[in-house]
Amino acid sequence: MSLWKKSALELSNLIKNKEVKPSEVVESFIERKRQVEPKINAYVSDLEELALQIAKKRDQELTKLESIPDLFGIPIAIKDNISTKGIKTTCSSKMLENFIPVYDATVVEKLNSQGYVITGKTNLDEFAMGSSTENSAFFTTKNPWDLERVPGGSSGGSAAIVAASAVPLSLGSDTGGSIRQPAAFCGIVGLKPTYGRVSRYGLVAFASSLDQIGPFSRTVEDTALIMNVISGKDNRDSTSKDIPVPNYLEEIKKDVKGLKIGIPKEFFTEDLNPQIKDLIFSAVKQLEKEGMFVEEISLPHTKYAIETYYIIAPAEASSNLARFDGVRYGYRTKEYKDLEEMYSKTRDEGFGNEVKRRIMIGTYVLSSGYYDAYYLKAQKVRTLIYQDYIKAFEKVDVIITPTTPDVAFKIGEKSADPIQMYLSDIFTVSANIATVPAINVPCGFKDNLPVGMQIIGKPFDEATILKVAYRYQNIYRFYEKIPME
Ligand code: GLN
Repeated sequence: MSLWKKSALELSNLIKNKEVKPSEVVESFIERKRQVEPKINAYVSDLEELALQIAKKRDQELTKLESIPDLFGIPIAIKDNISTKGIKTTCSSKMLENFIPVYDATVVEKLNSQGYVITGKTNLDEFAMGSSTENSAFFTTKNPWDLERVPGGSSGGSAAIVAASAVPLSLGSDTGGSIRQPAAFCGIVGLKPTYGRVSRYGLVAFASSLDQIGPFSRTVEDTALIMNVISGKDNRDSTSKDIPVPNYLEEIKKDVKGLKIGIPKEFFTEDLNPQIKDLIFSAVKQLEKEGMFVEEISLPHTKYAIETYYIIAPAEASSNLARFDGVRYGYRTKEYKDLEEMYSKTRDEGFGNEVKRRIMIGTYVLSSGYYDAYYLKAQKVRTLIYQDYIKAFEKVDVIITPTTPDVAFKIGEKSADPIQMYLSDIFTVSANIATVPAINVPCGFKDNLPVGMQIIGKPFDEATILKVAYRYQNIYRFYEKIPME
């Protein structure tokens, strides 16, 4: 079997046993990438040459290492809103088109200390605002299952490159669904960890109280593998938590017998596409056969999740994006007569339409006359949504829902209608609002396009959702089918 078809875990074992060299692994993935990348456009920066250089260096290091880290020599792609020292980090924005960071994000530092090989920086909706990568200032990434469709967003590049098997692992970020929704559209595994599980240091901030970095992979083991590395307290991110990180690779093998699945009735209304509903229910049935119990639950306030999210996220974004003013770093307009004009022309020329829309909504809901009516109210509803989850988790161990209301849509289909676009996050945003972890697992196809199931867990209990996902993967071996073969 070609190396590029293998999981990161399999490759890791081959490298550890000195059966293959990192450069052989990287070369195999580069060969695959050359076939698929011209069609899917997942990379903003394709770092093929750098990857080869690093891989050669890893070959040398391998001969001297006493113990070989799990991700040693493993190629990994990084979303282009995660800071990489000396490597352009654009956020797919004109504002940062030529921006080269002087430091690595903590997650990148951790991967480096394992000896990973960076393959490229992946495309996203500008500053991670969107659900399709159509808001990238550069180009739209295509879905490997159907090149006329979006890969989802905002981490569309990271999802597409893993789905096409041009890299076994990638990192994305999820503020309202940006890992799980593209994972669902591309038929792969995507995990949003609990808020505070993974350091956000070096992640370009969109909405700081909702953002989390997380992985994409084709198998559940690979997500467990990288979570072992990137999780944990970081002194440079005061919101990261000092809660012990279990060995996820060990945890996933444990039994699921006796665990309780909650099915929230608010997520399975008449509006839900019947085919999607059937696929989720048949997946739940399979898990029941494994000894899990199923119970209907209620998350009554999640019906306000979209409204709450689209107040809190833009409010935080408007504040976070104030730093892009043409003074500190990034783009500056060419001609201006005074400071005021420099600010406004820089921001007008540097930001795209969706980013401007968010900044305007954000400054509006934070303005003195409207703060209480919108922002404060949204914060109160946020607490209610959080309490819904905590109450539900007194009765059940995991909650299962669809990840998205439908399969990947056509490029251009929703881009003229922001509300339609926002509604594609209807099942994902509440996990960010409630800070809980959630994973997408493929559970079938509709019209030849992947459908995703979302498994939501208790705060800091990634182990249980990974365990359930792994058990399901043993029943439905979704990773065997690769698009563009
Ligand atoms: N699609 C959502 C938005 O546009 C979520 C984005 C994200 O998770 N980064 O805000």
